Amino acid sequence: MREIQAGDPESEDLGSRAEQVLRDVFGYPAFRGEQKEIVTHLSGGGDALVLMPTGGGKSLCFQIPALVREGMGVVVSPLIALMQDQVAALEEAGVRAAALNSSMTWAQVQAVERKVRTGDLDLLYVAPERLLTDRCLELLDSAAQIALFAIDEAHCVSQWGHDFRPEYIRLAVLAERYPGIPRVALTATADDLTRKEIIARLHLQNARVFISSFDRPNIRYRIAEKLGARKQLLDFIRTEHAGESGIVYCLSRATVDDTAVFLAGHDVNALPYHAGLDNGTREAHQSRFIREDAVVMVATIAFGMGIDKPDVRFVAHLDLPKSIEGYYQETGRAGRDGLPADAWMIYGLGDVVQQRWMIDQSEAEEEYKRVITAKLDAILGLCETTECRRVRLLDYFGEASTPCNNCDNCLTPPEEWDGTEAARKLMSCVFRCEQATGFSFGAQQIIDILRGKSTPKVLQFGHERLSTFGIGADLDVAQWRSVLRQLVMLRLVKVDHERFNTLRLTDASREVLRGERQLRLRRPTQKAIPKRSERRLIDKSRVTLDVAESVGENETVYEALRAWRREISKEHGVPAYTVFHDSTLRELARTQPRSLDELRSISGIGATKLERYGSALLETLQTAGA
Ligand code: ADP
Ligand code: ZN
Repeated sequence: MREIQAGDPESEDLGSRAEQVLRDVFGYPAFRGEQKEIVTHLSGGGDALVLMPTGGGKSLCFQIPALVREGMGVVVSPLIALMQDQVAALEEAGVRAAALNSSMTWAQVQAVERKVRTGDLDLLYVAPERLLTDRCLELLDSAAQIALFAIDEAHCVSQWGHDFRPEYIRLAVLAERYPGIPRVALTATADDLTRKEIIARLHLQNARVFISSFDRPNIRYRIAEKLGARKQLLDFIRTEHAGESGIVYCLSRATVDDTAVFLAGHDVNALPYHAGLDNGTREAHQSRFIREDAVVMVATIAFGMGIDKPDVRFVAHLDLPKSIEGYYQETGRAGRDGLPADAWMIYGLGDVVQQRWMIDQSEAEEEYKRVITAKLDAILGLCETTECRRVRLLDYFGEASTPCNNCDNCLTPPEEWDGTEAARKLMSCVFRCEQATGFSFGAQQIIDILRGKSTPKVLQFGHERLSTFGIGADLDVAQWRSVLRQLVMLRLVKVDHERFNTLRLTDASREVLRGERQLRLRRPTQKAIPKRSERRLIDKSRVTLDVAESVGENETVYEALRAWRREISKEHGVPAYTVFHDSTLRELARTQPRSLDELRSISGIGATKLERYGSALLETLQTAGA
């Protein structure tokens, strides 16, 4: 089949057919970003590589061409556990979709295979290892027509990434076996190296590459100092996200377990998830997180890939992630539905010390250590910056932008101050202590001396006689900790993890001590971030929020709709969001349609859902609104 180029009359025709499918089947009024171009290109028979951030709307990019084109679309997806939910969401919208995977019974498999042969499917989801079996390839040969191949999470072909799956490399066979059938690879991984690898390994040299902006404007980035991790987390959840879904990332399994128990003990519906739990428990927790309305998953980074729950309202980091890539990927799981969401992190000196130590004592090659040290420094830079977090984040991925007015630094600008004098006091204190006693001391002791506190330990070592005793009484403990953390980050002071976390000077300290280097430091802000009710501060011109408006006075109607949705999702055995998204329920609560015709214009209500749920919705609205 000839490939259709943009601008052809045929291309315009394809574009309008795609728009019709978007409206009729999915109930959405318009394409987002580059979706239309991608959909038209694929519908016209071209290959594509799509790089789009999480929540950007990648699924529609292959689902719609599969419906526009003759035949069945084949979707390669790595996570069997999540396939069923994707299929359920499509079925709710009236699309003939099915999955083939190892968790199905023989009879179920045969039923799906029959549908493939008789041409009764629009979309087939299959795991790569299964697709590559002779049985499956022969099955595809027997299908009347294949519309396209979509390879989701395509970064899994990258041997350098942490999601590498060897079977992805063998997907290259699709290019030879099915020439002329369009293939699209999709990923949310932004870097250039991965992109090149996908093109080479999947034989996509002729594919058109679509790169979207990696900005996630509805996510509010916030990074604060760790003062009392659990209490800070609980306050954050209680005041801003009570009764909502979220993910809390921790570095270790032990912290995951402890934090989950702590939250659960304070009436938060929290569950743990990490590789140390048995399969059954992990799956049960994942499934509850996806299906229920307000579960908080406390997890290691083992959790998250492929989870496309749209209404995760916050992602919290209790420990510093190892890199900006990791931070971006993990925070990206918040707010896929485009509604406001929080990326909230706390970090402290302990994080820096621990992660540097882990790198130092690892057996890895020097070259590798250098790379991961640079990555750690980059995320530390993001934590300590006084500039817009988003600007910094996007800059890391090579994208230029302007201050966003939706991060903590934009909303409550931190002050910078000249910390040179404070740094010199602290450094001299470290130096004097060591000189006087012959060994070094930890942060607590140094700060006590600076502040002139005659603690038993200070008196024991005669530190009250040092010339630096009491020279830093002008700053409080928190301020000194903040100074110290920044000095450690800048490698002006070293924390010796192997010797009881004692403080040491470094070669670079001398420049500051001798007055050759000035230091601008960040002063911790005391001001609170504006609360949810004040979120209209978001700069709308940048945010593609579908329905950012709060439901306001219609909260009871919204709650009634949520309760109705809970019933339906239980009855059908599908996640709540596959029935309707929060954004659709919000729009319903706000506009309160009175007829089927009015319902039709609500985003997220397509023909099938209108037919299935239209009258029930009107009834619920009427009862709750009266
Ligand atoms: P990705 O796979 O890129 O992370 P999804 O395909 O899951 O993103 O889409 C994210 C969310 O945005 C989904 O809930 C989807 O229904 C919604 N969405 C995608 N495209 C549109 C659109 N054009 N209009 C309205 N909602 C959309
Ligand atoms: Zn900002």
